[in-house]
Amino acid sequence: MYEALGNGQVIVVNDTTKIAYANAAFYTEDKTFDINKVENYNHLRAQINEQIGSRNYFYAFQIHGTFNKLKLGGVPKQEKPYTEGLDVLIPNRPVFDRENITGTLVGFYCPDFIGKINVAGYHFHFVSADKKSAGHVMEFTDASNLSGGFKRIAKYQFDLPETPAYDSVNLEKSFQYNKK
Ligand SMILES: [Zn+2]
Repeated sequence: MYEALGNGQVIVVNDTTKIAYANAAFYTEDKTFDINKVENYNHLRAQINEQIGSRNYFYAFQIHGTFNKLKLGGVPKQEKPYTEGLDVLIPNRPVFDRENITGTLVGFYCPDFIGKINVAGYHFHFVSADKKSAGHVMEFTDASNLSGGFKRIAKYQFDLPETPAYDSVNLEKSFQYNKK
């Protein structure tokens, strides 16, 4: 498992590393596809929509390819007492611009009905073939030689941490998203 640090560096995590939030799936490909060229992220979404068929399931993806321009986002490590919500962290996230880079997109599609417990639509992360660049895929242009696959997922399990910190954290929307 790879971790993209806030400074853009990539490390291999050890088995005892903990993470605040994770999406995971056992991955075996139901179907594979090859796409010669896509103009940008939106174009890839449209191409994948044709591949998956129904948009009422979850899907996991693994897609290899070369990206002429790729914009990756990171999230800096937070320190206690974790007062900033995503409304502050995401607009101020570190951004890494890569050019002519080959690597792998991994990610998920969630149906619109997923609501607030995940991100509806496509959400991809990237790790380069040389394992030196990684992050959240914000945008890309001119991707070529894409070969990928996906697995359809019909079961969704949501696990919460049973810890004192989680017991008492304020998850009300007014706290998380209106803080400046
Ligand atoms: Zn992400």
